[in-house]
This record gives sequence, structure tokens and C-alpha cells, in this order.
Amino acid sequence: MNDSALMATYRRLPVAFDHGEGAWLQDTNGRRYLDALSGIAVCGLGHAHPRVTEAIATQAARLVHTSNLYEIPLQTKLAARLCAASGMDKVFFGNSGAEANEAAIKLARRAGHARGIDVPTIIVMQGAFHGRTMATLTATGSRGAQAGFEPLLGGFVRAPYGDVDALARIGDETPDIVAVLLEPIQGEGGIVLPPPDYLARVRALCDARGWLMMLDEVQTGAGRTGTLFAFQNACARAGAGPCDCAGACVGTPAGVLPDVVTIAKGIANGVPIGACLARGAAADVLGPGNHGSTFGGNPLAAAAALATLDVLEEAQLPARAAVLGERIRSGLTAAFGEDPRVNEIRGRGLMIGMEFREPVPALVERALAEGLLVNVTAERVLRLLPPLVLSDEEADEIVLRLRRILGDA
Ligand code: PLP
Repeated sequence: MNDSALMATYRRLPVAFDHGEGAWLQDTNGRRYLDALSGIAVCGLGHAHPRVTEAIATQAARLVHTSNLYEIPLQTKLAARLCAASGMDKVFFGNSGAEANEAAIKLARRAGHARGIDVPTIIVMQGAFHGRTMATLTATGSRGAQAGFEPLLGGFVRAPYGDVDALARIGDETPDIVAVLLEPIQGEGGIVLPPPDYLARVRALCDARGWLMMLDEVQTGAGRTGTLFAFQNACARAGAGPCDCAGACVGTPAGVLPDVVTIAKGIANGVPIGACLARGAAADVLGPGNHGSTFGGNPLAAAAALATLDVLEEAQLPARAAVLGERIRSGLTAAFGEDPRVNEIRGRGLMIGMEFREPVPALVERALAEGLLVNVTAERVLRLLPPLVLSDEEADEIVLRLRRILGDA
């Protein structure tokens, strides 16, 4: 393949896929690959899911785009559906995760200005990834991604991930904090799970200080971690002392409910979409002329997202993701738990990381040669983000192929 007319923003692997079905992709030479990455947490229903294909084809034959100058009933329907599923009140649609986060950042800033705060400041995390636009790049916690793009934006301060006391300290030292933005599990940062009581304690701190709690669920959303949104796994008091609700608050308004949630990736199974959801006062911060997107929430993307949500719900795929995740993690632990090269196997649902002690630069290519699509992030973390429609056998096959690749089978 000749890449010469493409800007070299990606170091591409020497393979091109022709078509896919479920968890499998076939390349242009007819070779089959087991996809343990889902287009980076996008095709959660697998490739060419018939329900999504049908929705896209039907909608494409009717109407693809009209612009947000007019009512878009499918967008309105999708917004209501996402709000009902998340406990949020209103939605802004863009086309990507970065745009969803950009909307959240603008929302937080505008909310700050409305309160008379001149330099509204957002706390963001070390190791975070929020996108590649200038605001989301500034919010991202990777110097490598930021280098060469200075000046970055003002109005951000950085905290260690998972440390609520550090957030409180920053709040004491920094005037004008308006929001905290974080991922419930850091994806690009290396599948980093915070302490179990983290979200509940961040919620409590945000309430005490009048900050917006903003969750980037671009990678964790769409059912991948065992619930439609990752925050729905969190008990309001989990880990923070004995829980008197016995878990009953999980996923309800009495549990951990952020003020703003951003989603993208898996919501339309591959059709570009991004959304910023907000509740309460935060839902009414943005008004006419404050923000916009030509394509955002167009009929095609909305139809694909509605079909994706239908299948996620009907087939109870979030719960299935939890079961499959356990299966893969225990398979990996059985195979590599004692392996001196491996530091830790972790994750939740189908967001799985195996951290090596040393960088593993050749692993992705070795896996490709074995017909397995995986990713390495943060240099040392093998990242698995397989589709939620895996069979048990396919889940086991991922582990088996990794054993072969890493010289154990
Ligand atoms: N936020 C998170 C947590 C992500 O993982 C990503 C992409 O990997 C983004 C935002 C950016 O999404 P996009 O590439 O669609 O702009």
C-alpha cells in the first residue's frame, strides 16, 4: 500500500483489511485475524453487525444529513435514550471523543464565567488522554503528545490520578477551580484503575467545593466495563467505609452520578459520533451560538447509535462484557501470572491490560503475525479491547494466541 499522500501521523502496520464479521477481520490477501482491539474500543458489537448495517443502509437511503439548523428527530430520540440510560438531562453531539471533551471543557469554562470566575480552571490528571485538539491535548497528561504544539492552553492544573487528597490540596492552593475532568479507568495511560472509592470521593469533594465532576467515558463507555457507563459500577460509598446501601445505590441517582459525561468510540459501532452529556444546572450552560457542529448528531450517526444501543441492551452485552473480561483475565493470569516478564494483569470488563516490566515494542507485530490484533500503550502495557460479542471460544482463543506469541504454548 502506498501511503505517500498521507501525512505521517500514524505508524501503520503493513496490513489492510477488506471485510469483517463479528470478532474477525479478513485482510486483502484473504488472511483472517481475531480482533482483540475492536478498532480501539469502537466496534463493540463486532464488525458488520447486521442490525447496525441495516440501520445505516436504511437511513442512508432516506436522509444522511440536514444540519443542526433543523430538527433532527433521530438525534432528539438518541439524546433522550442516552439521558434515560445515564441519569443525565441534556446532550450535545459532535463527531469524536475529542469534540465531546472540547464541549465539556467549554461548558465548564462558561459555567465558571457565569459565576464571575475570570480564569476558570479545570483539574486534569497525570496519564490522562482526552484527545488531540488544542484544549483536549492540553488536558491530556502526556508530554510526548504535547511536545512541539506549545503554547498549550491556560486554565488547567494537573493532579496525580487516583489521589483525592491531592485534588483537595490543589483546590486549597488554586483559586478558580470549576471542574475536575478524569477517566473512570485510564485507557491510553495503560489501563490504570483508581482505588475503588475514588469516584465516590471525587463526587463528595466536587459537591463540597462546588466543582463540576466531568467523566471522560470515551473509552470506558458503551458497555465495555460491565455497565453501559463505567460510573454505573461505582457505589456512592464503595471502599469509603461500610456501605449501608449494600450496593443498591449503584447505577441510581443515589450512587455516583457525574455532572458531565463524554462518550464517543463504541456508541455507534464505527460511525463517527461523540456526545457530551450533562445534568442539572450544567445541562443548561450552553445556549444558542455558544457551541456547534455541522455534522454532529446527523441522522446517519444517530440511526447507527440507536441500533447499537438496541443491541447492547437486548443482548445484555455490558453484563456479558463483565463475564468475558473475567474469563480472559483469569486465562491470562493462569498463563502469565507467574511469568517474570509480567508485572500485573488488570482491568475491568473488556478493558484489559497486561503490564510488562520492560517495554514490548515488537509485541503488536508478533501478534499480527499470529493473526491477533492487539495494542500496546504506555510502552509496557498490552491492551485488549475486544468486541463484546465474543464467544467463550473466541475469548479463550485470544489467550491461546497470546500464549503462542509469548512463547508459552
Ligand atoms: N478520551 C479518551 C479516554 C480516549 O481514549 C480517546 C481516544 O482514544 C479520546 C478521548 C479521543 O477520542 P477521538 O480520537 O475520537 O477524538
